[in-house]
Amino acid sequence: MSKQNNVETHTFQAETKQILHLMIHSLYSNKEIFLRELISNASDALDRLRFAAIADDSIQDEGDLCIELELDEEKGLLTVRDNGIGMDRDDVIENIGTIARSGTRAFLDQLTGDAKADAHLIGQFGVGFYSSFIVADMVTVITRKAGDEVSQGVRWVSDGGGEYSLEAVEKETHGTEVILHLKADEKEFLSPWALRSLVGRYSDHIGFPIRMQETGEDDEPEWKDINKASALWTLPKGEIADEEYQSFYKYLTHDMDDALAWAHNKVEGSQTYTTLLYLPSTAPMDLMLQRDERTGLRLYVNRVFIMDAAQNLLPHYLRFMRGVVDSADLPLNVSRELLQENELSGKIRAAVIRRSLDLIGKLAKDGDEKYEPFWAQFGAVLKEGIVEDFGNRERIAPLLRFASTKGNGAKHVVDLAGYVERMPEGQDAIYYITAENHSAAAHSPHLEVFRKKGIEVLLLSDRVDEWMMAYFNEFEGTPLKSVAKGDIDLGKVGESEVGDEDKAETEETKTLEKDLLEKIQAALGDRVAEVRSSRRLTDSASCLVLGEQEMALHLQRMLEQAGQDVPESKPILELNPGHPLVTKLGSEEGGRFDDLALVLYEQALLSEGAVLEDPADFVRRVNQLLVG
Ligand code: ADP
Repeated sequence: MSKQNNVETHTFQAETKQILHLMIHSLYSNKEIFLRELISNASDALDRLRFAAIADDSIQDEGDLCIELELDEEKGLLTVRDNGIGMDRDDVIENIGTIARSGTRAFLDQLTGDAKADAHLIGQFGVGFYSSFIVADMVTVITRKAGDEVSQGVRWVSDGGGEYSLEAVEKETHGTEVILHLKADEKEFLSPWALRSLVGRYSDHIGFPIRMQETGEDDEPEWKDINKASALWTLPKGEIADEEYQSFYKYLTHDMDDALAWAHNKVEGSQTYTTLLYLPSTAPMDLMLQRDERTGLRLYVNRVFIMDAAQNLLPHYLRFMRGVVDSADLPLNVSRELLQENELSGKIRAAVIRRSLDLIGKLAKDGDEKYEPFWAQFGAVLKEGIVEDFGNRERIAPLLRFASTKGNGAKHVVDLAGYVERMPEGQDAIYYITAENHSAAAHSPHLEVFRKKGIEVLLLSDRVDEWMMAYFNEFEGTPLKSVAKGDIDLGKVGESEVGDEDKAETEETKTLEKDLLEKIQAALGDRVAEVRSSRRLTDSASCLVLGEQEMALHLQRMLEQAGQDVPESKPILELNPGHPLVTKLGSEEGGRFDDLALVLYEQALLSEGAVLEDPADFVRRVNQLLVG
């Protein structure tokens, strides 16, 4: 920081400059969004002033909260002014001196260099105030915080390069003025007509009037309202066009894409409240991160913005939902703590969950074409609900989609009800396998007997799956069962692809001799808990099986890599009694017997997706056996 005549010069964080540069280039084709962003900030500032005035006597809500757009054609200036909460010096440094917030690095790493894809990412990152630099080569912010006694404000100036300056200035009223020095070729934003049309498109239904100076009848300039200024959710559904819902969504979320769907409901009765919930079409970057500060659901009490109440009104697994809740009955001074235990807010929360799940359900009913994109974006998050929200499990379960041995490759298109419908007579469980990735699941030896008998198996490879399935034991009365855990006895289930002859054969060779099993067990030592004959394998020689309650091996590995304690558990080695390698064991002795037993175990590990502890040793053993 350097100082001269009370003007301090600060440098942006290193990453800020990079982001600004990228943003200006990749958002250029959408440059008019700067206006929406600035109006949205101004409207937030007005919301916050109104709220602060309730709690703090030193802050007055003078009643005429509004946003002004002022044009100076001669100087090429466009000013967006609000009489909202304003900022003090520290706020300015914190809020607009810092674009690089947590996650910036990760964000930059995701950029591809492809303008279109990057624009999309940048939009999700939330460019806000900085989008001003798309059209302006210099931006001045003059602001004063409400409640500050001295009539001093702060002036922030930057050209979007590496630095900004700060200076104390006189300012009579609280609020913020953002003055854009428009670039020479962006003068179109000095046309009142163009601004009107942009406001109409983007900001018609924010809750505050937007005013612009226009020439009145006697040539005197006068301020005119140029938006409808009616909070969108307060209007009757029938009067709202889809485009209006969409533009309100963008105002609310700063998303550049349309919402996928929305639900607008008003509840009247013992409690009156309105919910307007949106399903975004793409997931924001940090969705999968386990963040505590969640945003996305704004709580209003009688149109007064109170707080972002996503934490209180939205469960974690619905953290992708966006929207507004407006309650007529909550007290204006409701605090987070109060929301936590308040009975009314409990009811609102339950309603928000129900409506969100209904909205998703409706999308699912509309068919795969609509549902697939949703599922691809948010499915893995929604699955957390199976664990987190027992009370709504029955609503969530039908919304789940899986890849399946009878589905469409790796696509998640199979639902549980459909699976149950397809179950052949005698099948009494929904079978699934979890693995590190789709191909490991699809090619697992555990599926062999199921394939042979034509029994469908769900192929689960999302990170959350193993965790979810530990809690998810039945669907509408049908148990869910992992094909890699416990004992599998398909008995007579399945299309009779296994002819009677085959059956007799399986029956006959079903078990390996006890002596042999014990000998193998001795050769493997404490690597496995047990060695037994398999009823799962038809082609492969061996596979590893876990107890019903044990954690899948791929998940154990993942947790171990993440440095977590994993409960000690040993797999069972199952051998295919019909496989020539296994039969061969019976006639081997000594070192060759031990080597072959070990190779069978190692093969099972490999097909599980594991990495062998000593791959070179494995290769040596296999080669020796091959040379034989
Ligand atoms: P975002 O709005 O997504 O937080 P911005 O970069 O647009 O990101 O703004 C950063 C912060 O600067 C805001 O969160 C707010 O605290 C502050 N800010 C921006 N514009 C205003 C304004 N007109 N009045 C008061 N504070 C503002």
